[in-house]
Amino acid sequence: MFDYLLKSGELILKGKNRSFFEKILLSNLFYKLKKDNIDFIKNLGGVFWLRAKKDISNLLKDIIGINYFMPVLIFDNLSDLIAGLEKMLANYVDFYLEVKRGNKQYHLNSIEIKNEIIGNLKKTRNIVFNKASSNVFFIEYRSNKFFLGFQKYKCFGGLPVGSSGKGLALLSAGFDSPVASFLMMKRGLRLNFIHFHSYPQTSKDSLEKVEQLVTVLNQYNLRSSLFLMNILEIQKFYYQNIPLEFLIIFYRRTMMRLALRLMHDLKMNVLITGESLGQVASQTIDNLSVISQASSALVLRPLIGYNKQEIIDLAFKIGTGQISLIKGDDCCNLFTPRKVKTKAKINEVIKLENKIFSEIQSFEDKIYSLKTVKHF
Ligand code: ATP
Ligand code: MG
Repeated sequence: MFDYLLKSGELILKGKNRSFFEKILLSNLFYKLKKDNIDFIKNLGGVFWLRAKKDISNLLKDIIGINYFMPVLIFDNLSDLIAGLEKMLANYVDFYLEVKRGNKQYHLNSIEIKNEIIGNLKKTRNIVFNKASSNVFFIEYRSNKFFLGFQKYKCFGGLPVGSSGKGLALLSAGFDSPVASFLMMKRGLRLNFIHFHSYPQTSKDSLEKVEQLVTVLNQYNLRSSLFLMNILEIQKFYYQNIPLEFLIIFYRRTMMRLALRLMHDLKMNVLITGESLGQVASQTIDNLSVISQASSALVLRPLIGYNKQEIIDLAFKIGTGQISLIKGDDCCNLFTPRKVKTKAKINEVIKLENKIFSEIQSFEDKIYSLKTVKHF
């Protein structure tokens, strides 16, 4: 039997809607931990008491919406708690306590509980109560019980995945888009993923890399679908019909249109990309707005103000960094020259696009109809 206290993130701030968020958090917990492993989860008001049949610490750390979790021992009354602590502290020279009375029913307040414990422990032996001690015990009184923990494990906090709705993330194999996806899950979106490739010009390995990324992201997202679209033919067509310096912009506009179509078909309302202002040529303000203009979707770019190193650090923290690090090919690099347009003008792009509009449409229709999907 393994008991845990889980502290939910911002749910406490949600007022009347709190139960909506808590319900989603609970259903995510049951899904992630698997029903069979759980004896019960009780909502103690902003804190959940979870009893599991096995050690589930390494699963709990990935649950979005939890600020921290703490393995705990449980005592029915204060004297049992003190007796338990006495045993545990047998070989210690000092200790420190953090006490929280989670509901006001108990006749002693937090400070009085703390003093009662310290007074009793000192009666039997010479132990020092020391703020600097590394032997810290956390005690919470809730629902007529005392919960005793030794370590709080910090999690990502945020809003439970699914509580903000659903979104479609444009996922490449680089560092940025997996991190952008994670950040939006952290704000409560449940994501599906779309990846564009140019197989066989780009390799099978790069597709495998994307699947590995989705596997990692699925630890947080819980249920993911990865859609794949092969854009090689339209890339070849652009190569023959568009000045090379515009190629990237045309690829990206095609991606935005295809993503928009899929977003509508999946009944979603938002796209997510991993752009960061100025990071590469396609991410200047001018080019971002030309790329955005291709679709009417709301596009979230959570990394827009991040530095590359900040993105890489976060990628390693969430577990996608190791995968993105592996060298791979990317469809965006196909046929593109060294020098690319950094200040594309929308009129110029639309003029070029209009000349080949019907061909673009039929290529995109074909790409869309040949899309494949894999569920995780
Ligand atoms: P990343 O590190 O995510 O690959 P990047 O720095 O390489 O990003 P770009 O190539 O300009 O930047 O791509 C910007 C964004 O466009 C990506 O973050 C991603 O959301 C989307 N994107 C780019 N290439 C693809 C692709 N092949 N499939 C799906 N989305 C893509
Ligand atoms: Mg990339």
